[in-house]
Amino acid sequence: MDSLARVHFPATLSEAAAILRARPGARLIAGGTDLLVKHRNGLLPEVTDFIDVTGLGLHEIVLADGQVRIGSGCTMTAVAGHPLVRERFPALVQGAMQVGAFQIRNAATLGGNVGNASPAGDSIPPLVSLDAVALLFGPDGRRTVPLAEFFTGPGKTVLQPGELIEAFLLPDRRTAGAFLKLGERRAHAISKVSLAFSCWESAPGRREVRIALGAVAPTVIRCRKAEELLSAAPWPPPAELVDKARALVVEAARPIDDLRSQKEYRRRMTGVLFQRALEQVRA
Ligand SMILES: Cc1cc2nc3c(=O)[nH]c(=O)nc-3n(C[C@H](O)[C@H](O)[C@H](O)COP(=O)(O)OP(=O)(O)OC[C@H]3O[C@@H](n4cnc5c(N)ncnc54)[C@H](O)[C@@H]3O)c2cc1C
Repeated sequence: MDSLARVHFPATLSEAAAILRARPGARLIAGGTDLLVKHRNGLLPEVTDFIDVTGLGLHEIVLADGQVRIGSGCTMTAVAGHPLVRERFPALVQGAMQVGAFQIRNAATLGGNVGNASPAGDSIPPLVSLDAVALLFGPDGRRTVPLAEFFTGPGKTVLQPGELIEAFLLPDRRTAGAFLKLGERRAHAISKVSLAFSCWESAPGRREVRIALGAVAPTVIRCRKAEELLSAAPWPPPAELVDKARALVVEAARPIDDLRSQKEYRRRMTGVLFQRALEQVRA
């Protein structure tokens, strides 16, 4: 860490929010797996202070008031291994388990993955597919924002000065789901394309469906037209509807060419991941 950066260890959320607002060059730090890599590579010249959030009690996963509340400081290992998550949210378990290797998952937090706001963050499509809401804490109190509306661009969020993510709130329901990612290798690689599929029973023979795509737009996006089509169809959906839904998913993707992949390949693989996810959920 740069010897000029000051590190703060607040004991309360209010203290953390106050430091964050008072010091424009301050950044929250949780597992440090994103932040310290950038800092060591000289990519954060504006950062003057780090605010360590690990002492703020953000590590709980609890069921209360019809919601599963996952503290933003929970590591990927903790999220993927928790019974409340394993029994309800398979897409999130799969997403958390595909972040880096063991060592990274033991340090990397859900709040850090979301706070980093990369469209390729692997926990984000699962959370969006599960209708997750971010509980924010700031100098003016708490507020909630649906995660699908939390990101405004790559690395950009609706967080206001002094605000941090306290927890994620997920409706308490048993879902079926899958998270699939395509990277340079089968594991330990940043996503070129990722897709989360979650669904739950809405009426006998019907399922409410959510599909979220990663790394094919400036932010993680939902495929609302495909969701509507499948949510209105009998479950499991007939083959001709699956073909239509697949075309709508591909249409929703807005990929670019970059150092990791090409847009045409990304677009085509979006359809392939959709098909595979649906097969996994139907099995
Ligand atoms: C070798 C390696 C492999 C990786 N592989 C993957 C991968 O496969 N998939 C993937 O998605 N990511 C991967 N990552 C990236 C990284 O591990 C994840 O994004 C991780 O979840 C970040 O969490 P963290 O706790 O380490 O965040 P930090 O590095 O501590 O912080 C990241 C950002 O989030 C902000 N932040 C932290 N906590 C909060 C909070 N409570 N509220 C608001 N903002 C907050 C910080 O200010 C910072 O901007 C990899 C990283 C490495 C080094």
